[in-house]
Amino acid sequence: MVKENLEKVLNDIRECEKKAGRKTGEVKLLAVSKFHPSQSVLQAIEVGQLAFGENRVQEAYQKFCPIIQQNNEVCLHIIGSLQTNKVKKAVEIASVIESVDRLSLLLEIEKQCAKLNKTIQVYFEIHTGEESKSGFQSKQELVQVLDFIKAGNANHVIPKGFMTMAPLTDDRELIKKSFRTLRLLKEEMQEKYPEFSLTELSMGMSGDYQLAIEEGSTQVRVGTAIFGQRDYSK
Ligand SMILES: *Cc1c(COP(=O)(O)O)cnc(C)c1O
Repeated sequence: MVKENLEKVLNDIRECEKKAGRKTGEVKLLAVSKFHPSQSVLQAIEVGQLAFGENRVQEAYQKFCPIIQQNNEVCLHIIGSLQTNKVKKAVEIASVIESVDRLSLLLEIEKQCAKLNKTIQVYFEIHTGEESKSGFQSKQELVQVLDFIKAGNANHVIPKGFMTMAPLTDDRELIKKSFRTLRLLKEEMQEKYPEFSLTELSMGMSGDYQLAIEEGSTQVRVGTAIFGQRDYSK
């Protein structure tokens, strides 16, 4: 099932790129495997999917340590809100942390990466819709973090882009507005900080990735449409 679903989603992404006048292959797929077992991840890897997203560090660590040991082309993105005490494990296993939403978190990521002598890519999570609670709430806080990195205070951290979750609504215009807000912020910050390569726009999930691609997404994060419904009772 995973293989068929994955193929369907990938074809659909290519269709959306075409419709939106985007280049083929411009939008990457992050397969969100949270709450799904290693076997599902392995099935996806068998058909060439290498980038995965998880939102809980403990689960991600247990699932992906053995998988990455077997195949170092597999890469993991942490996409869930991250507590400071989980950062150590997160940077051990992940190559991207998409949910940086405060300076104190960035400081801890830098500290733990320095210890491991590892660099890591980060995206800044931005609050763009009324209903999502996570992400930077103000531009000042974001600018403070970017200034901090620019000043050379976090040399193990590579800022690469932005992530958002659209509000949970059927109102397509509201969803598009949320994605557009992220794109405009990215453009503004790229202009303000030419020393960084802020290329990534991580937006769009199973229910709204078509709209995200229209609004310029460079990576969609898709779980349910690939792996099926999550069983939260486990
Ligand atoms: C779970 C999750 C997704 C995937 O959601 P689906 O609706 O299952 O595609 C994407 N992004 C984040 C941050 C998530 O937590």
